[in-house]
Amino acid sequence: MRVGIGHDTHRLVEGRPLILGGVRIDHPRGLQGHSDADVVMHAVADALLGASGGGDIGEHYPDTDPRWLGLDSSHLLADVVERVRGQGWQVGNCDVTVHAQAPKLTPHKPGIRENLARLLRVGPGLVNVKAKTGELVGPIGRGEAIACEAAVLLIPIPS
Ligand code: MG
Repeated sequence: MRVGIGHDTHRLVEGRPLILGGVRIDHPRGLQGHSDADVVMHAVADALLGASGGGDIGEHYPDTDPRWLGLDSSHLLADVVERVRGQGWQVGNCDVTVHAQAPKLTPHKPGIRENLARLLRVGPGLVNVKAKTGELVGPIGRGEAIACEAAVLLIPIPS
């Protein structure tokens, strides 16, 4: 078995859609970034790369590359899953924590979980989504940013 962790933070700005775990969420501001800035997808992808010893998403999908401009990060995660499976690994389970002062994420957790499970090619019971506010402290608590942490376990694909 192999374990990996991932983390991502993006700034909240006006004039951008808010997309978390592939779910478009109604909110006055969205995350700034080269791609769709989906911190959940980015953190999970980094956890997968970490577990497989594959580096990080910055190496594989540099934000200077015009191919990733406005990218739906679901494609990025699907690509990383493909890469890791090609090395003989499948996902054992995945756990994520999203840090956002607003909006309330409770209604969106099932959608995020389903999207991640589909992309990771596991049942939804193997994916867990948690949400925390920033307790009004620091950049997350002030609503300046949203962050996500992820942990992924990889197990060998049975031959
Ligand atoms: Mg990112």
